[in-house]
Amino acid sequence: MKKIIVYCEADLVNKKLEEVSFELISKARSLTKTALDLKNEEYQVEAVVLCDEINEESVKKAYKAGAHIFTLIKNDSLKVFYQTVFAQSFVEYFNQNKSDIIIFPATPKGRIVAPRITTSLDCGLVADCTGLDFIVRDDKLMFAPTRPTFGSELMATIISKTLPQCATVRPKTFSIEFIYEEKNEINIYEPVSYEENRMKLVKTVLDNAQNEYDFTNANIVLACGYGLVHNKDRKYFEKLEKIAKLIGAKVGSTRKVVDLGYMPQATQIGQTGSTVEAQIYVAFGISGALQHISGMKNSKKIVAVNIDEDAEIFKYSDYKIVANAKSIIDKLYDELSK
Ligand SMILES: Cc1cc2nc3c(=O)[nH]c(=O)nc-3n(C[C@H](O)[C@H](O)[C@H](O)COP(=O)(O)OP(=O)(O)OC[C@H]3O[C@@H](n4cnc5c(N)ncnc54)[C@H](O)[C@@H]3O)c2cc1C
Repeated sequence: MKKIIVYCEADLVNKKLEEVSFELISKARSLTKTALDLKNEEYQVEAVVLCDEINEESVKKAYKAGAHIFTLIKNDSLKVFYQTVFAQSFVEYFNQNKSDIIIFPATPKGRIVAPRITTSLDCGLVADCTGLDFIVRDDKLMFAPTRPTFGSELMATIISKTLPQCATVRPKTFSIEFIYEEKNEINIYEPVSYEENRMKLVKTVLDNAQNEYDFTNANIVLACGYGLVHNKDRKYFEKLEKIAKLIGAKVGSTRKVVDLGYMPQATQIGQTGSTVEAQIYVAFGISGALQHISGMKNSKKIVAVNIDEDAEIFKYSDYKIVANAKSIIDKLYDELSK
């Protein structure tokens, strides 16, 4: 039977799968139904993770999200993320357990390891996809990943001519469905032929800025745009940061305010920044460029404050507030600081 391999990412310290792994497993499982509907072709989903061990809870969740097989590529050298060792170990396993499709997470580690693997396998890689599907062409079922192109102006569906067909997908692109049978079965593979790594981990430093702006579980995101610039100072950005602290929200921003130095890069939301799926996303002084929209459009409720009643952002908003965002921030700040 054909297989879709999901390259899962693990938190190597806590030995558990990252959420994005479950997102990709759920999506892969839904693709198996599409393959069956379109061409009566059967696929299985194999979740593959590289680590020295993995916790039971993660294995069970992988099955519940839709995996048919769970494989742990296990070795003491996989305790730490050495990109060459990870890539070589995966390639060794793959060459003995081939599949037609591999889906990788477009996380910082996934973006490093995926091209190394596809180069070794001499196949193409469609990066940063926002959609994965099967289509039928010339009576053949084809894996059809879609990604934004020309600065998000167009969506391109790219079909690789080589096998395996590979794609990377950003976290939060697909939702997780824990609806399948829970199991605790692990297929263990111990790689043998990787080269000794040429790097050595000297120390690990926690990046506080990344942590502070980690949008993974953000319920409320207050996002600031160029409309908040006031006399070329950060006054309104600082006020918004304080409001966010008071209500337990995260602060996001557009690339324009990052490029101009008003906000750190880690806050950038959009095509070249983070993707957020907040319960409530509020845009203050943001025009609504497609590159920004692609990073926040999956939020549950979108509120936009813009002085221009024709601003593009309003097309994507559930609540439209035509007003001066600075006055609203002043009022919110005064109210919450009482
Ligand atoms: C390849 C590429 C990748 C990109 N990636 C990203 C990305 O990841 N994320 C991203 O955000 N952008 C990205 N961009 C940039 C993007 O195209 C826009 O330039 C940017 O998002 C605009 O930021 P902005 O909305 O803050 O500024 P502007 O477009 O200048 O909009 C400011 C808005 O504020 C409003 N305004 C002004 N004063 C007030 C006020 N007092 N109260 C309320 N509203 C007010 C204005 O009406 C306007 O709508 C990318 C561009 C390219 C080419």
